[in-house]
Amino acid sequence: MSDEETNSGVESRISAPDLSCPKCNHLLPNGLGVIRCLMCKSEVKVDHEGTKKKWREEKISCPSCSKVLICGVDKRPANLQCAACKTHFVLKPNRPKIEIACPACDRKLRMNKRPGERDIACPACEVEFKVSF
Ligand SMILES: [Zn+2]
Ligand SMILES: [Zn+2]
Ligand SMILES: [Zn+2]
Repeated sequence: MSDEETNSGVESRISAPDLSCPKCNHLLPNGLGVIRCLMCKSEVKVDHEGTKKKWREEKISCPSCSKVLICGVDKRPANLQCAACKTHFVLKPNRPKIEIACPACDRKLRMNKRPGERDIACPACEVEFKVSF
């Protein structure tokens, strides 16, 4: 993993559980705390002790000196400071990825899993289609 983004931040490898909105049944944005459904705007309180524990114990390499640090913080994003080189950086929330197959040519497309409906253009056959989560 050498082509990580620059010093601006590191993406957490641990995502919160995938949950659906209890009101409209769409996928909620990934995270813990008070999560706002992007579709019906209702607020849902999400808590998950297992995720918090994994977040506290997550090991990340400092984007500047590559020293491995234990996060120690049970929320994302987390503002961290490297104990070795003192660089401040942000541990960003994990963006869950999903693979879907183009309905026309069956090519696998990898994308961020975001709630709501999106128009996708297949890079292989240029067919446009919609996905929604
Ligand atoms: Zn909703
Ligand atoms: Zn460092
Ligand atoms: Zn296609």
